[in-house]
Amino acid sequence: MPGGVVAASAVLHKGEEPPLIGEKGSGAVFFSGCTLGCPFCQNEQISIDSMGADITDNELAAVFLALEAEGASNINLVTATQFTPSVIAAVGEARAKGLQIPIMWNSSGYETNRTVKLLSETIDIWLPDIKTLDPMVSERLFGARDYPAAARASIKMMASQLEKRGGELIEDNVMKRGMIVRHLVMPGELDSSRAVLEWYAENLIDRAMLSLMVQYTPVNESGRQIAGPDYIMQDNEYNQLLEWLDEFGIEEGFLQSPEAASKEWIPDFSRLNPFPEKYSKPVWHWKFK
Ligand code: SF4
Repeated sequence: MPGGVVAASAVLHKGEEPPLIGEKGSGAVFFSGCTLGCPFCQNEQISIDSMGADITDNELAAVFLALEAEGASNINLVTATQFTPSVIAAVGEARAKGLQIPIMWNSSGYETNRTVKLLSETIDIWLPDIKTLDPMVSERLFGARDYPAAARASIKMMASQLEKRGGELIEDNVMKRGMIVRHLVMPGELDSSRAVLEWYAENLIDRAMLSLMVQYTPVNESGRQIAGPDYIMQDNEYNQLLEWLDEFGIEEGFLQSPEAASKEWIPDFSRLNPFPEKYSKPVWHWKFK
């Protein structure tokens, strides 16, 4: 990967949870690289293969302002952990030039407490994953046995930072401040999901919303997926998840339907618009550089 910040694409994106989309979409900026390496990653062109171009803090600030000018409801920093100081600087510069919309941190949850602290004055909306709390699963899938401990600590700290800023704020169905915790149920790992739901209920139930994702859709050709390309969650597995949500009293949040799984959402970052036109409007692309 070249030095400095590397980014692949900035789009108005309609593929996030409803309060994050607003009228025109979330202003998603996709950064290259990732601190994890999930075998099912749909963004592996950028996360693993680092497709993208160098972008200065100054240029990044201009991209944020361009997204706002196009009507973005927020600036959605997708997998930016590896560039944290530069991203904070670029947000500061954009704010000084008039940027008004909320800044969202869309990450794997694999952060240090130091990173979360650094971000605390910058981030309005936290959107972390919680992939698993089982060290054996995280070692097997991501080669990161410490993922559960890191995610537990960072997510709790994000919730505390949000509370210090006044907690969740939603205006006209659009989130201005808040926290949505995403969990993707992985094939064959239902027990791991139960542990995640239990932990969420104990630690975050009144502090965040849960987004339970059941549309595991592997990329076709990578050979890195943990289930075949035709995998679809079975009814009994889905019903089990519903029972657990009920058992743990989790009511606030979002739940995908397995039938809605679609390869349409798998992006191609070599295209100027990586997503289908109906879901996404490109604002910046690495090929523009
Ligand atoms: S954390 Fe997200 S971006 Fe990184 S490899 Fe995993 S799925 Fe891909």
